[in-house]
Amino acid sequence: MSTATPSVLPGKVVSIHYTLTDDEGVVLDKSQAGKPLAYLHGYENIIPGLESGLAGRKLGDKLKVDVTPEDGYGVHDPEGVQKVPRAAFPRDIDLRPGMQFSAENDGGGSGTIWILSVADEHVMIDLNHPLAGKTLHFDVTIAEIRDASREEVSHGHPHGPEGHHHH
Ligand code: ZN
Repeated sequence: MSTATPSVLPGKVVSIHYTLTDDEGVVLDKSQAGKPLAYLHGYENIIPGLESGLAGRKLGDKLKVDVTPEDGYGVHDPEGVQKVPRAAFPRDIDLRPGMQFSAENDGGGSGTIWILSVADEHVMIDLNHPLAGKTLHFDVTIAEIRDASREEVSHGHPHGPEGHHHH
C-alpha cells in the first residue's frame, strides 16, 4: 500500500471524468474525452451531492455517486414556469426551446432562465435549472488531484489547462 496516493481534500484541484445519467439511464451530460472537469474541492464549484461523494476518495478511484434533487440542482418549483410576452426578448434573437438567458431578478442578482417553448405572442420560460427535480447518477473516475495554487484558492476555482478562463 502507498501512503503517497493523493486524496480528495479541501484545497485540492480535482479533475474527474464523469458520465451523468438519469433514473432511466439516459445520458444527460459527460466530460469530453481527454478533457476531465477540474474543480476546487471544498469551494462549491460543483453540486453538493457530487462534492460530498468525492470527499476523501483517491486518485484513480472509479465510483458511482447518486445525488438527490436537494443535493443537486434543487427541487422543481412549479412557480418557476412562466408565460411571458415574446416582446420581452430582443427581436433579433431566434428563440428556440433549450436556449438560456441571463436575467436580472428583483433582488438585483442575476439568474438563468431557460426557454421551454415559443409561440407567436408568448414564450414559456422556466427559472428552474433543467436538471431540477431529477435524481442524478454520476459514474466518476478521478483523473488528477493536485494542490491548488494560492491564487486559485483566493479565487475559489481552478486555473490552468483544465480550468482555463479569463478574468
Ligand atoms: Zn480565477
